[in-house]
Amino acid sequence: MTKTIDGKAVAKKVNDATQVAVSELVAQGIQPGIVVIIVGEDPASKIYVRNKNRKAEKLGMHSVVRQLPDTTTQAELLAIIEAYNADDSIHGILVQSPLPKQINEPLVTMAIDPHKDVDGFHPAYVGKLVTNYPGHYPVANTPRGIMTMLKEYGVDPAGKTAVVIGRSTIVGKPMAALLTNANATVTIAHSRTKDLKAVAKTADILVVATGIAHLITGDDIKPGATVIDVGMDRDEHGKLVGDVDFESAQGVAGLITPVPGGVGPMTIATLMQTTVELAKWSDKRE
Ligand code: NAD
Repeated sequence: MTKTIDGKAVAKKVNDATQVAVSELVAQGIQPGIVVIIVGEDPASKIYVRNKNRKAEKLGMHSVVRQLPDTTTQAELLAIIEAYNADDSIHGILVQSPLPKQINEPLVTMAIDPHKDVDGFHPAYVGKLVTNYPGHYPVANTPRGIMTMLKEYGVDPAGKTAVVIGRSTIVGKPMAALLTNANATVTIAHSRTKDLKAVAKTADILVVATGIAHLITGDDIKPGATVIDVGMDRDEHGKLVGDVDFESAQGVAGLITPVPGGVGPMTIATLMQTTVELAKWSDKRE
């Protein structure tokens, strides 16, 4: 029988701990603050940003949404980031993707003060993640949240075969690094992978992050596998679906995340958790 991973329940647990951490910091005179900068009118991004803002406020954090027009220039965006770098009420800066064509994403990544880099995109953090460097530093929130869910459901990656489909900087690559650090044997598959379905079927832990609705079906899943569906796609009726066909995975997968209610709430909970950690570390900087 296939068991559904309850992302909302795990997210609630993380959020409850975050709320306690926020109160403790507020008692010390530090209110953790996050700014989400959104450039343009992408409807999906606007929904994510609204959800992030609501959650931050609910947890007692200082939350700012900075909506910018899609005509914003590179120089204007960098100046705004610079202002938040200097703003002591802000501990985490997130620039929502996708960004309009005139914006150079790597330059944006490098402009954010690493102490406020809530997604852990700075190359120094990516290097630490890949080398499994000890100590505190931010790691991309979606894959970090997935590791929390795996732990919560007793899935230890050690010795398991893991396949990550998707190689983005925000999900696929950091996911593969975290699973490698947790001693899984990891394959990264992507749009140029030959015989993707056969590769997927080798996985004890299958993470799918492509943005292609129902790319993976029950036939591509190893019986008993843990399946993590990162996709947030729209089917032909406009319904929110994942990269995995949830119905056909029933009876094949051992554990599976639903869409919605799986990775989505965990990403937001982990983003809040990381912001609070950045606020906590802010007075211990060298
Ligand atoms: P991306 O577009 O940056 O990367 C997609 C990856 O999928 C690429 O590496 C590409 O090689 C691979 N890919 C594309 N077509 C493929 C195919 N036919 N076969 C195999 N691989 C293929 O996307 P992303 O930012 O990594 O996001 C992926 C999906 O996850 C999107 O649907 C996005 O909305 C969703 N997402 C959800 C959350 C969440 O919190 N639930 C967070 C981040 C991303």
